[in-house]
Amino acid sequence: MTHITASAPCSMHDPFVKSPSQRDPFKTAQKQLDEAAAIMKLDPAAHELLRWPLRELHVTLPVRMDNGSTRIFHGFRVQHNDSRGPNKGGIRFHPDETIDTVRALATWMTWKTALLDIPLGGGKGGVICDPKTMSDAELERLSRAYIRQVGRILGPDKDIPAPDVYTTPRIMAWMADEYSFMQGNNEFGVITGKPLALGGSAGRGDATARGGIYCVREAAAEIGMNLAGAETAIQGYGNAGSSAHKLAVELLCMKVIAVSDSKGGIYNPDGLDYKAVHAHKQKTGSVTGFSEATAITNEGLLELDVAVLFPAALESVITETNAANIRAKIIAELANGPTTPEADTILYNKGTHIIPDLLCNAGGVTVSWFEMVQNAYGYYWEKEEVHARLEKKMKTAFRSMYETAGKYHVHNRLAAYIVAVSRVAEAMKLRGWF
Ligand code: GLU
Repeated sequence: MTHITASAPCSMHDPFVKSPSQRDPFKTAQKQLDEAAAIMKLDPAAHELLRWPLRELHVTLPVRMDNGSTRIFHGFRVQHNDSRGPNKGGIRFHPDETIDTVRALATWMTWKTALLDIPLGGGKGGVICDPKTMSDAELERLSRAYIRQVGRILGPDKDIPAPDVYTTPRIMAWMADEYSFMQGNNEFGVITGKPLALGGSAGRGDATARGGIYCVREAAAEIGMNLAGAETAIQGYGNAGSSAHKLAVELLCMKVIAVSDSKGGIYNPDGLDYKAVHAHKQKTGSVTGFSEATAITNEGLLELDVAVLFPAALESVITETNAANIRAKIIAELANGPTTPEADTILYNKGTHIIPDLLCNAGGVTVSWFEMVQNAYGYYWEKEEVHARLEKKMKTAFRSMYETAGKYHVHNRLAAYIVAVSRVAEAMKLRGWF
């Protein structure tokens, strides 16, 4: 029997109002821009234009559930700015998704692509849902329903999504397939982060973490820190966090003493073995309960006395309430927006070296761009070539941020903004937008 459920668990909060417990990341994004604009003396029209997304699409999706009922989901696709090239950015499936989160994330993508000097703009998508409670078949129907609605504003030359929080290469494959049906031909270049067999790129899987690791190496060299044997903690154990665990050990010889996920964290001062923790997470669905470690909270993990802290989960976890207690020398932001502007000031004054999200997690979109290029070309690179090209891009972007920080006497995030905003403003000026 088929029936309609009007208020379903996955759409319990009003999608247009942010939940009261959350900070508004879009206000954070606007505030960060305002600060950079003041220093750069940005043209007021360009500034106002960049404070808002150029376009956004709100969609309502009826999805048939396994029990025969129809559940209604809400989703978004936001295109912040495409002056430098087509919009680019992931799609998140998360129960706390809001339009304001997606707006912030789309805005950050504009700065990220500009900072890395990639010929793309900024976009982001989101669906309010809890994928952990859904079957594979339900997730597939939701993914296809989303593309049927949002597909009209996507395209390899318009807007190219990718994976993000709780979306995977499997989901990208369904989405590429649905879009290809809508077009009447294979359009694998419409989405990145696809499985290798469907036009994915070698090296895309761990690209976000790898890019961050290259940045940590640059930052450590700048401040004279020896990374071999140095301790690190990682908050979040999704694609970015778990790959960071592996690569911090393999590429930097660091000792990972704590990791966590949404259920809690684990701690072992002698170091956590990547393979063993990964296998435990695969088996139980969480890092918690790992036998060779003691329990630690997510909050406790952030305050550990480590050389490098990787926030690799969600936004707004380092705030004015805990910033003073953060003891890490380097914060490598693999998550988007983990540090609030208030916390930024506190940490800057304490001398903490932040590698801002715009740079630190840009390895993902950089290899996504490589994937688009390979899709257009119909020719695929070896993993080693992808790694070498990524390393070059990350180092160049790190240098331009670092030099700008020195020139303007500002912290790294503000410097990254100044580089990115000036590139976007230049493109808009040349196009005659202001
Ligand atoms: N979702 C990732 C990010 O926030 C990757 C985006 C992409 O590859 O387009 O950067």
